[in-house]
Amino acid sequence: MSKLVPPHGSDVLMPLLLPEPERAEELKRAKTLKAVPMSSRETSDFLMLAMGAYTPLTGFMGHEDWRCSAAEMKLSNGVFWPIPITLSCDKELADSIGVEETVALVDRQSGEIMGVLEVTEKYTIEKTFECEHVFRTSDRKHPGVAKVFRQGEINLAGHVRAFSEGTYPRDYEGLYYRPAETRALFADKGWSRVAAFQTRNPMHRSHEYLAKIAIEVCDGVLIHQVLGALKPGDIPASVRIRAIAALTSRYFLPGTYVQAGYPIEMRYAGPREALLHVLFRQNFGCSHVVIGRDHAGVGNYYGPFDSQHIFDTLPEGSLIAQPLKVGVTFYCYKCDGLATTRTCPHGPEDQLQISGTRLREMFVNNEKIPEEFSRPEVVAILREYYASHQ
Ligand SMILES: [Zn+2]
Repeated sequence: MSKLVPPHGSDVLMPLLLPEPERAEELKRAKTLKAVPMSSRETSDFLMLAMGAYTPLTGFMGHEDWRCSAAEMKLSNGVFWPIPITLSCDKELADSIGVEETVALVDRQSGEIMGVLEVTEKYTIEKTFECEHVFRTSDRKHPGVAKVFRQGEINLAGHVRAFSEGTYPRDYEGLYYRPAETRALFADKGWSRVAAFQTRNPMHRSHEYLAKIAIEVCDGVLIHQVLGALKPGDIPASVRIRAIAALTSRYFLPGTYVQAGYPIEMRYAGPREALLHVLFRQNFGCSHVVIGRDHAGVGNYYGPFDSQHIFDTLPEGSLIAQPLKVGVTFYCYKCDGLATTRTCPHGPEDQLQISGTRLREMFVNNEKIPEEFSRPEVVAILREYYASHQ
């Protein structure tokens, strides 16, 4: 009998998506309410709330939870939470909304009404305060900081009731699993120790090695892809999904992995985001998350292993799921195999490492990608993509 980790801060998952029969009625009512548009980041958080990935949150945070999560990495009730989950709007719209009013939440991009918010609080935040704590910088060139500064002036807080997950379940059929569903899959396989491997890139051999390290030490691995918005220049999810499937179908043992995607939008908050990644993976039923070099980082804002070190600073009991810390991975010609900085005694001249920028350049110039770096089946799919997108 498998025994998975419990959800975060709760005995049960708390999805906010209403049961099917109630959705049509709620939508009809929502059409008569004031509409609050959600940015793509806000919609992605809404979807995480809807599916229960943000258990035990029941909606968008009020001022005290916002302040505590930013400054102290916990909710006002003491439950560990490393990043504020908030909804904003402009002042004019906020002024027209009364506390205790229920408003419709609309995805700005699609125009779809996704759910409703029972407003309990309206407040302003100091954006610099949030950014200095969460991102360790208020530099507007940081993509996560830029998003905070693009938010509306006023935050709206309250309970959320969701009745749509947009086009995700349809667009990513067979990949879009909610926490209750991954838990059922793991339980069905008899797994109790499950490591998540998070990726927003196609998997090359170093990623394959990381996922296989997870399989060696746990019952199985959840290959968990980011389906939310990415940075310009990143490989689109549809291409990445094909590349990863090409890899796993040929190089992984069936029954050792589950592939899934989830709708988060990256904040690139480095260490703080690594904490959030482990927190919500616990809700998906994972006991571990692979945390490698510069997890969820961007540019040179974070040290290469800051996202590992931060776990050592947490008060005991903050999280049940834990990081699986792995060094920098690469192919070493002297070791004649995949290795990490913890296992290979050789120098950089023997180690094959290709940065994302350099790899892109190699594809664009149609250079040969070494087989030690990436499987030929993966390279073929990426070549086709670059050939049609130059
Ligand atoms: Zn070596």
